[in-house]
Amino acid sequence: MEQTLVIVKPDAVARGLIGEVIRRFEAEGLVVCGLRMVGLAQKEAEGFYQVHRHQPFFDSLTHFMTSGPCVAMVLEGEGAIRRVRTLMGATDPLKADEGTLRRSFAASIEKNVVHGSDSVESAALEIPYFFCRLGIFPVVGRGEIS
Ligand code: UDP
Ligand code: MG
Repeated sequence: MEQTLVIVKPDAVARGLIGEVIRRFEAEGLVVCGLRMVGLAQKEAEGFYQVHRHQPFFDSLTHFMTSGPCVAMVLEGEGAIRRVRTLMGATDPLKADEGTLRRSFAASIEKNVVHGSDSVESAALEIPYFFCRLGIFPVVGRGEIS
């Protein structure tokens, strides 16, 4: 079963959209395996977005990511990485498909509501960035009511 790292970004947390973001993923059968609210320090945001360090938007992006709390979560399911990316929509909300989270809620290409890992390799780096390293581990599956 595949796992992916999702972040409800500070813009969405500030606008009271945590529940709506999670609802859309759960409605598609993705399972929440880890969940925590995090206030990122500047260095932590820069570490998370290291691949973008040479991009012109890097400083603005990392400041935005420290501007308020984020909700980080691990979502699990078959093809979870790709399914989450589809539900998020394109990075630029103007290019995102109708019905996607970013099309519905994003204010700009930067303040775009949600992050999702873009590959198996990214997920393998990003999940421990928010969970294992801090001694908080995601579970596997969601359990059952008997
Ligand atoms: N971003 C930005 N300006 C850009 C491209 C990206 O501010 O021109 C921000 C945006 O918040 C995006 C994040 O940087 O979600 C990471 O960029 P990436 O290309 O990895 O987009 P994503 O994988 O989040 O769709
Ligand atoms: Mg990306």
